[in-house]
Amino acid sequence: MHEIILCKLGEVVLKGLNRHTFEAKLMSNIRRRTSRYGRFKIYSRQSTIYVEPLEGACDMDGAYAACRQVFGIIAIARAMPCEKTKEAILENARTYLSRALTEAKSFKVETKRADKSFPMSSIQLSQWVGGALHDAFPHLTVDVHHPELTVHIEVREDAAYVHAPSESAAGGLPLGMGGSAVSLLSGGIDSPVSSYMIAKRGVQLEMIHFASPPYTSQLAREKVLQLARELTPWTGRLNVYVIPFTEIQEEIRRKCPEDHFTLIMRRFMMRLADQLARELHCGALVTGENLGQVASQTMAALRVSQDVTDLPVLRPLIGMDKEEIVRLARKIGTFDTSILPYEDCCTVFTPRHPKTRPDVAEVREMEAALDVEGLCARAMEGRELVKIKYFDKES
Ligand code: ATP
Ligand code: MG
Repeated sequence: MHEIILCKLGEVVLKGLNRHTFEAKLMSNIRRRTSRYGRFKIYSRQSTIYVEPLEGACDMDGAYAACRQVFGIIAIARAMPCEKTKEAILENARTYLSRALTEAKSFKVETKRADKSFPMSSIQLSQWVGGALHDAFPHLTVDVHHPELTVHIEVREDAAYVHAPSESAAGGLPLGMGGSAVSLLSGGIDSPVSSYMIAKRGVQLEMIHFASPPYTSQLAREKVLQLARELTPWTGRLNVYVIPFTEIQEEIRRKCPEDHFTLIMRRFMMRLADQLARELHCGALVTGENLGQVASQTMAALRVSQDVTDLPVLRPLIGMDKEEIVRLARKIGTFDTSILPYEDCCTVFTPRHPKTRPDVAEVREMEAALDVEGLCARAMEGRELVKIKYFDKES
């Protein structure tokens, strides 16, 4: 008999009539994510998705880790099957959970019985197994309200199962349920985190990155692609559109007032991201902007930069402290790459005294000196699409 993985649905269960679509999406996301670890049967029952290996060669550790990063799953556990007798169930619980039973101070047993022909009721089985476990681990106390460890038993048609303690999983909503968005990915700490947060809400992402060679190096570009790779366990495969930005930056430097460089540059980023979003039928833009972090992120500056698009600009980090963002970056696994010291295009022509209270009308006037349409068209023409495959630490 083989161990299986149990995935508990999160908010998905709240979605009423849409629930079936959510479940189907989640199961197909799980199927795609686990396929590299072997052949699995994936099905759902009572707010739980079962991931069952169909061959001995399945890599259960790999599949478990992958499922933990699938949005829409709130908790995850493994379970061990055994013969459907009370003695076999007890022995299974004693050995499979011996470590958890040794470490816990209090416990209870909870049984679900799908096979109604089993000769004991759920309550009888829980009491019998609970009593025997208490004898085997006498340091334990029984606590039916707030036990440290709940021993779950399920008696099903094919076998009985004992669950290991569940662990928290990714939460959020299944990818693809929330539509799609274009995420502006720099090499910094923030934008990988903002991408993660929006993907967590079930949004499929398309990534856009602006590169200014030779001011920005090949290494800076590699760093961004590496960040995208590190996001794929959360976001699934990614397309990164790398847009040449050098001509735009040089033109701005030549023709616009220095204190407005960053702002006008950000407006071009928004314009190009907007164009890409329309082409790919995406419903929003995502940035790592954060209120007050830098001069280009005051309220007035945000207004000026979003003036060029009427798509919603999602800024999930807007009210977070840097410390909280860093903590999340570490948790999702992008921090170490983000702090590699390669220059981004934003740091290439930084004004000495950036404008913190810009005015929309004034900025529009400054841009009249530029061939905005031509610059955008050439940048879009020069773009390159890099496809990033699903990546895990071992690959
Ligand atoms: P980050 O850490 O994400 O770079 P930041 O705090 O350095 O953010 P800015 O450099 O002002 O802030 O950039 C704000 C946002 O604009 C970024 O979070 C990102 O979404 C987008 N952005 C900045 N530079 C680029 C770039 N070269 N390519 C794509 N998007 C960018
Ligand atoms: Mg930056």
